This record gives sequence, structure tokens and C-alpha cells, in this order.
Amino acid sequence: MGKRRLAILGSTGSIGTQTLDVVRQHPDLFQVELLTANNSTELLISQAIEFDANAVVICNEAKYKEVADALQPHGIKVFAGMDSVCDLVAGDNIDMVVTAMVGFSGLASTVAAVKAGKAIALANKETLVAAGEVVTALAKQNKVPILPVDSEHSAIFQCLQGANGNRIEKIHLTASGGPFRTWERERIAAAAAKEALKHPNWNMGAKVTIDSATMMNKGLEVIEAKWLFDVTPETINVVVHPESIVHSMVEFLDGSVIAQLGHPDMREPIQYAVGYPSRLTLTNKKLNFAELGSLSFFAPDMDKFPCLRLAFEAIGQGGNMPCVMNAANEVAVAAYLRDQIGFYDIAAVVRDTMAGVEFAASPSLDDIFCTNDLAKVRAKEIVDKIAR
Ligand code: MG
Repeated sequence: MGKRRLAILGSTGSIGTQTLDVVRQHPDLFQVELLTANNSTELLISQAIEFDANAVVICNEAKYKEVADALQPHGIKVFAGMDSVCDLVAGDNIDMVVTAMVGFSGLASTVAAVKAGKAIALANKETLVAAGEVVTALAKQNKVPILPVDSEHSAIFQCLQGANGNRIEKIHLTASGGPFRTWERERIAAAAAKEALKHPNWNMGAKVTIDSATMMNKGLEVIEAKWLFDVTPETINVVVHPESIVHSMVEFLDGSVIAQLGHPDMREPIQYAVGYPSRLTLTNKKLNFAELGSLSFFAPDMDKFPCLRLAFEAIGQGGNMPCVMNAANEVAVAAYLRDQIGFYDIAAVVRDTMAGVEFAASPSLDDIFCTNDLAKVRAKEIVDKIAR
């Protein structure tokens, strides 16, 4: 078999750089064809040269010249803008697309890759949150495998490898609980973004880290799991597990539970997705159970972390509601990162936006894009009202 030829969308972010670290450890297995980034020109340029990419896209068109000047002497093609990403992922030179961009902006290029029949290593959870029904249907139509990169979903996927078609009785989705798990509500309410950015276990980007502090991240993952594994939301049980060693579990009819464990290191689920179905060697820390001693598990506190409840409500309503929730959350998290609103305002903005955008029971892809725009406008109005 030849090398697996990869497109890495969002290559300069946390998942992107860790994907390239996996590739670096297995140059005999992977060839990097396409790298894309929004703004980080310097890193994009050095990645393209190191991995001898065929082409790169800088999404911010204002930065095209800088990247082109640096890479064209190396024979690397340079493009600009999101439309170029959507065109290039469909190229014959690509076998698998790693979708590691942040937020709803990952949807269009993921859809383009699915339509072109490319295997997807899915790290952009907002794609399935906002458009799970449409994207999973498209994937089925085009016989495209969606391989989860998110650690919890990779764990569930790995637990299902021996399931032989047996029905999932329950998914136990583990959550670290984030940096505020043990804090009192009053102290959380006053927490600044820089405190929320201190995640105890995982090394992730800013958006995901704030989502982890509000537990919206787990809410997004509940919705993602519903679509990836074709289960009802009631099947999914969120359990707080502060050590982040058990990455998630699947329970079967007989009460037997299969778990996937490892130290928190995103390169593990990444290598499982890009190498699937093979397991690859990885220079990571291995588990020492005697050293670990014990692992703990708790029920989530949805009063302290209302975003998790909002996510269950959104997927319970279905239709465009998870898209509304996701859009409002993106706006609210950005405002919180700018210190414009407080921690609990994030949930308030999401809740009020969900109440204020028109419900659509079975939205098309166009409807989803439209809902996303409307919800963002509505969420920004709410942010402006409460901004300090
Ligand atoms: Mg996760």
C-alpha cells in the first residue's frame, strides 16, 4: 500500500500541529498534500517546507502574498480563501481529510470533502453539532467513513471494534469537569477568561478550553456522539472523571462495559484516526496502574454548569436548535475571551438565543448556514446588551 495522502485543515492549531507530530513519527506511512490555516503564516510556511506539502491555503486573503513569496520558491502551490479549501480537498491527490479547524467555519470544507468521497478524520465537532443529520446522511450516500478524532468519540469508536453489531445500550461519556469543577458557584461567576484557560489535563486551543470550563464542550460531544454512533440522547450518560484516564465507555445489553484508557494525549486518538485500522507506535507516556492507584467518577452538576443542560435541551428539540446553540456559544465564548461578559453570561447568551431564533424541524444545509448567521446576529445583540 502506498502512503496515505493527507489534507490537514487547520494545521497550525492544537490538533493540526499534533497531527503533524504523528506524521513526523511515521514518514513512511503518510504524505502531507494540503495544509490550511486562517492566519498563522509563519507556522504554516515552516510546516509546508518541513513536510514538503503539495499546496497550502491561507484563509485570510490579506496574507496571501507573504505565504506565496515564502513558498513558491520551494515549488509549493499557494492559494487563499475558504473557497480554495473546498476546491482543493476534493483533489485526486488526497485520500483523507483531517478537519481540525475551529468552529462552524469547518462545515463547508468538511461537506466538500465528504461529497468528494474522502475519508474524514473528524476533529471539528461543530460540523456534526450544527449539521449532524445532513452530514451523516451525505457520508452514508458517498460511502465515506467518518473517523472521530475527539478523544471521547475515538474511545467509543475503539470500544465498538469488537461489538459485532451488538446494540449500544449506553454510552458513558467522560468529562474532566474542567478547571472549575471544585469551585463554588460564586467564585466561578467571577472567574476571568485567563483562569478558565488553565485546563488541568488537556492541552487544547482557547475555544475548546473555555467550552471545557463551561462544560459546553461535553454538550457538543453529546450531540456529536448522537450522530456518530446513531443513538438517542437518552442513551448518553455524562460522567465526570477528573483524571481523564478513561476516555469513554460503551455499555451493552448484558451490563458489560468496555472502556478505552490512556494518558490524556490527543496524539493517541489522532493516530488511531489517521492510521485506521492499524495502530501505530507513539512516543507517549504509557499507563502504570499501580502508580495511578485509583480513578474517580462523579455525576455532572448541571446547575453549576448550565451549558451542559442547554445542550441536552437543544438535541432534544433537534432540527436547527443545536446549530443555534453552537452559534450563540461561539459568539459568547469570543466575548468572554475579550472580557466583555462574565462566565455565566455565556450560558445566558446561549439560552436567550435559543429562545429567540425561529425553529426549523428538518433544515437543509442552506437552512443551517442561514440559521448560523441569524443566531450569531441575535447572540451579538444579547452580548451587546450585557457587555461591561
Ligand atoms: Mg473531547
